[in-house]
Amino acid sequence: MTTAGDMTSEAADDETSDAGAELVDGYGSSPGVATGPVKIIEDIDEADRIDEGDVIVTEMTAPDMVPAMKRSAGIITDEGGMTSHAAIVSRELGVPAIVGTGDATDVLHDGQRITLDGQKGTVVVAEADIDDTEDADPDGARAATTGGAPTTATEVKVNVSIPDAAQRAADTGADGVGLLRLEHILLSTSKTPEKYVADHGEEAFVEEISEEIRKVAEAFYPRPVRARTLDAPTDELAELEGGENEPHEHNPMLGYRGIRRSLKEPEMVKLELRAFKRLHDMGYDNVEVMFPLPNDAEDVRRARELMDEVGIDRTKHDWGAMIETPASIRSIDEIIDEGIDFVALGTNDIVQFFLAVDRNNAMVADRFDDFHPTILEAMAEVIEACNENDVDTTITGQSGSHPDMAKFLVEKGISSLSSNIDAVPEVRRVVARAERKLLLDSARETLDDADPQI
Ligand code: PEP
Ligand code: MG
Repeated sequence: MTTAGDMTSEAADDETSDAGAELVDGYGSSPGVATGPVKIIEDIDEADRIDEGDVIVTEMTAPDMVPAMKRSAGIITDEGGMTSHAAIVSRELGVPAIVGTGDATDVLHDGQRITLDGQKGTVVVAEADIDDTEDADPDGARAATTGGAPTTATEVKVNVSIPDAAQRAADTGADGVGLLRLEHILLSTSKTPEKYVADHGEEAFVEEISEEIRKVAEAFYPRPVRARTLDAPTDELAELEGGENEPHEHNPMLGYRGIRRSLKEPEMVKLELRAFKRLHDMGYDNVEVMFPLPNDAEDVRRARELMDEVGIDRTKHDWGAMIETPASIRSIDEIIDEGIDFVALGTNDIVQFFLAVDRNNAMVADRFDDFHPTILEAMAEVIEACNENDVDTTITGQSGSHPDMAKFLVEKGISSLSSNIDAVPEVRRVVARAERKLLLDSARETLDDADPQI
């Protein structure tokens, strides 16, 4: 992203006449406007410096920073795209954020008062007299409650990554959780799963995960919560305690993650599955199991066998797979034959792998096109195959929050959409309108058929 204006940031800070001058821009990744003093965070150890109302400016946020992110008024990062850690977590916390600015940590400086717009992606010099405590979100975008929204035949669900955001997510009135990512739960322990187990034992690991998922299952009960087994790339795990044992990979997104790692390390994923089973045993029958990144039916079958080994009762609890790679799209019929109850279209990865665009690379973020015709065609094929076999379909990628995508997928017959917390009301409205339009079109056709003269 480019740095706007040719003044230095110090000059901008000193001259009140510069209020409103643009300092830097990036991708608006969590809506809302915030004003506050900049705190540059160069190292995770400095996160304690963040006070209530500060604007965090950093290269990229890390799981350890979540408490500081909660305290902050806003977040600006140099790196990352719409599906990066900073983008996902800030949206769930309801903190305005901008990612992928390229050079915010160079352009901005500590103590500088700025205003950021998490919708537009702009950072400007703050007005001198603006009150930092003013409601930065007068339209209530951050609250995102559904209040009186229409009930739709297509379910509108929500994505959750941080259990602390579960109540906020449940209050939207969403029909369930389409994707509960385990990554942030595990990463927030500050240790790799292997290190956690080595230090505290298997039982503590199962307890830790099940307790965090329980918060989400409880907030949503009896609405379904689809919890996904771990899908953390090695470069993220490398940041944690124990991360020195992670393999170094040139392309972590194409590497040792998701089900491909789980199938190589079955004893680790079985601990995750034991946590899901524990919740079933506690009566949380709304918890459903989902596997990330399979390529084919064999991946799904092997994952299913592990589920059976830990005693998860598939006749009582729905389970399914993410469809995220071109290979899994081509094998959708065989994957369905493995007995899944649902698939989730992971468009963050579908787009990455179809278009060969690294989702975390700001240099090619403008090429990350969820609406590329090949992507739309592929999704329509998956939905059609699933509908023929009574398998539920949903979208859990970032584009599930986009009104145009919601409209397209409703027209193609998707069973549900799972969107960001802040997007639920808008997605619900779009879905309702698209459904009504389909009904109207079909009624008109019937009328035309009945009396073509009129
Ligand atoms: C996706 O790939 O679209 C998805 C929802 O999974 P994640 O973003 O966790 O890879
Ligand atoms: Mg994915």
